[in-house]
Amino acid sequence: MLGRPAVKAVVNAAQERARRGEIAPEEVANAAAAALPQGPSSLRGVVNATGVVLHTNLGRAPLSPVAIAAVVKAAGHTDVELDLTTGRRARRGRGALDALRVAVPAAAGVHVVNNGAAALVLAATALAAGREIIVSRGELVEIGDGFRLPALLESTGARLREVGTTNRTALADYAAAVGPDTGFILKVHPSNFVVSGFTSAVDVADLATLGVPVVADIGSGLLAPDPLLPDEPDAATTLNAGAALVTASGDKLLGGPQAGLLLGDADLVERLRRHPLARALRVDKLTLAALEATLRGPEPPTWVALRAAPAQLRVRAERLADALDDVDAEVTRTAAVVGGGGAPGLELESWAVSLPERLALPLRTGEPPVLGRVERGRLLLDLRCVPPDLDDAVAAAVRKAACTS
Ligand SMILES: *Cc1c(COP(=O)(O)O)cnc(C)c1O
Repeated sequence: MLGRPAVKAVVNAAQERARRGEIAPEEVANAAAAALPQGPSSLRGVVNATGVVLHTNLGRAPLSPVAIAAVVKAAGHTDVELDLTTGRRARRGRGALDALRVAVPAAAGVHVVNNGAAALVLAATALAAGREIIVSRGELVEIGDGFRLPALLESTGARLREVGTTNRTALADYAAAVGPDTGFILKVHPSNFVVSGFTSAVDVADLATLGVPVVADIGSGLLAPDPLLPDEPDAATTLNAGAALVTASGDKLLGGPQAGLLLGDADLVERLRRHPLARALRVDKLTLAALEATLRGPEPPTWVALRAAPAQLRVRAERLADALDDVDAEVTRTAAVVGGGGAPGLELESWAVSLPERLALPLRTGEPPVLGRVERGRLLLDLRCVPPDLDDAVAAAVRKAACTS
C-alpha cells in the first residue's frame, strides 16, 4: 500500500525516462510497476546469519514477539500519560519504569531516554556542566561510526579531567583529581575492545569511597549477572558496589528497543528527570511499550541466540546442508560473537553452512535478504542468530541464489 505522492513520483520518473529516450513510451507502465517500492517503508527485515548476535548495522537486538505485539497495541491512541480510572494525567511510561524497578531492585530511581549516549549526555549536563568529569585515559572510547565518548561529554559543557594512562589507572590518580569542581567520576565499560597485558583499572567499589558520585556507563544493559557472560558488568552489581548512577542501552544485552537507561540514586535520577534537556531526550510510546514487554516477557531473541546449544545448531546446519542437494554446501564449526553490544573477546561455539563466496551478493539482495559472513573465501551462514523456523526460508533463498548466480 502506497500513498498517491509515492506512486506519482515513480510514474513521473518512468515518464521522464521515456522522454529522454531511455525506454519506449509503451514501456512506461511496466517500468513504473517494476520501480514501485515493495511497501511504504524501505526498511527490510533481514535474516542475521552473520554469527554476530548484536549487529549495529542490523538494528542490534530484534524485539521479542511480546514486545512486537505491545508496539502494535501502543501504536494507536494509548493511555501513555493518562490514568483511565481518575481521568487525569498520569506519569508517562509508568509501566515501563515499574518493570525496570522490579528488574533492578537496587535502583531506587529509574528513567528512560532515547539511547545510551543520551543517558550519558543527560547525566553530564545535569551533574557536570561547567564542572569536571573525572575519567581514566583507558576508558575514553569510541562507540562506533566515529562517535567518541570524550567529544560527546564535552559537548555538554562539562570538562574532562583525564587521569591515569591508557593501560593503567590507580585509585590515587582519581583521588588526586577530586576537588571542588568535580561533577562526578565516570567509569566506562570498554564494551568493544579488550586491553591485556600490564593493565590495571579501579573498581566502582573503590571509586565510591572518594566522596563524589560515581556514574558507571556499563553499556550493554545487562541488568543482573549472568554466568554466560562472566566478565560483563551488570546494573545490579554495579549499583550495589556503590555507583550513584548506571547508564546503559536498551537494545544490546537487554534485548529490547533502542533506549537509554538511567538507574540509581532516587534524588539524582529525579534531578535528571526534571532537567529541561530531559524533554528533548524523552522516548515515545512505542519504545515504552516494547521496553516494558521485554522486561516482563519471556527471554528475548537475543538471549535465545546467546543460549542456543551448539549441538542443536550443528543438527540444524546438517539438515540445511542436506536440503541443498545441488549446491556446494558444507557444515562447519564457527565462533559466534556477542558483537558491539558487549562481551568483547568472548567466542560462542556455533555451526554454519559454508557456501561459495559468490552467493553472498544474491543472498543479500534476495527476499528475504540473508546475511552471512565471508571467511577465507567461503560464505558462512552461522545459525546461532537465525530463528529455527526460518531454516526452510534460508534453504529456499540459497537454492534461488545458486540458480541465479
Ligand atoms: C553502546 C555503548 C554506548 C552507546 O550507547 P547507544 O545506546 O548506542 O547510544 C555508550 N557506552 C558504552 C560503554 C557502550 O557500550
